[in-house]
Amino acid sequence: MSRKNFTLLIQPCGFIEFNILKRLVEVLKDKFNVEADVSTENLTPPLTYYDWRRGQYLASRILDWIYGKVKFLNYDRILGLCGFDAYVEPLNFVFGLADPFKGIAAVFLPRLKPEFYGFRPNNEKYFERIVKECMHELGHTFGLEHCTNKKCVMSFSNSIVDVDYKSAAFCRNCSLKLRSAGVEIGSSAILFQ
Ligand SMILES: [Zn+2]
Ligand SMILES: [Zn+2]
Repeated sequence: MSRKNFTLLIQPCGFIEFNILKRLVEVLKDKFNVEADVSTENLTPPLTYYDWRRGQYLASRILDWIYGKVKFLNYDRILGLCGFDAYVEPLNFVFGLADPFKGIAAVFLPRLKPEFYGFRPNNEKYFERIVKECMHELGHTFGLEHCTNKKCVMSFSNSIVDVDYKSAAFCRNCSLKLRSAGVEIGSSAILFQ
């Protein structure tokens, strides 16, 4: 049996479709060669964390809150999947956020849905976007910064158009950085261009 890179806990927060979670675990296992579990408990953030004026949560606060809830489980990495929208000043919103020091990241799902932009629901497109943003934020937890290669999953996404343009894969440079951080990614996670 091959050695696993790290252990990962996927923590659902708010409503997340079960089939999305199930597929995501399999894809991330394959991309990162990781041992991944989904938390059996769905977490709901306290309403006092909600910014009623903006209709969003403050992403950094959510990250710390999830961390406080699950750090005792001692996973190497924690990935929050959040069924609500969030922001970080000075941005209007974020697709995700990571804290490399705590080894935690979160992805906020509403803006990854085609219907958010007035398109018809499309589960495949929605799932692809979730995979890319999860890979991107996990990359940050291993110290990767934004990449200038627009096809690389570590390139910064200003809008959903950028998310769709990039691949669910790390460029050669970013793959090498991951390797020096001790993460040997699967071949489906390497961008060959
Ligand atoms: Zn980023
Ligand atoms: Zn890159």
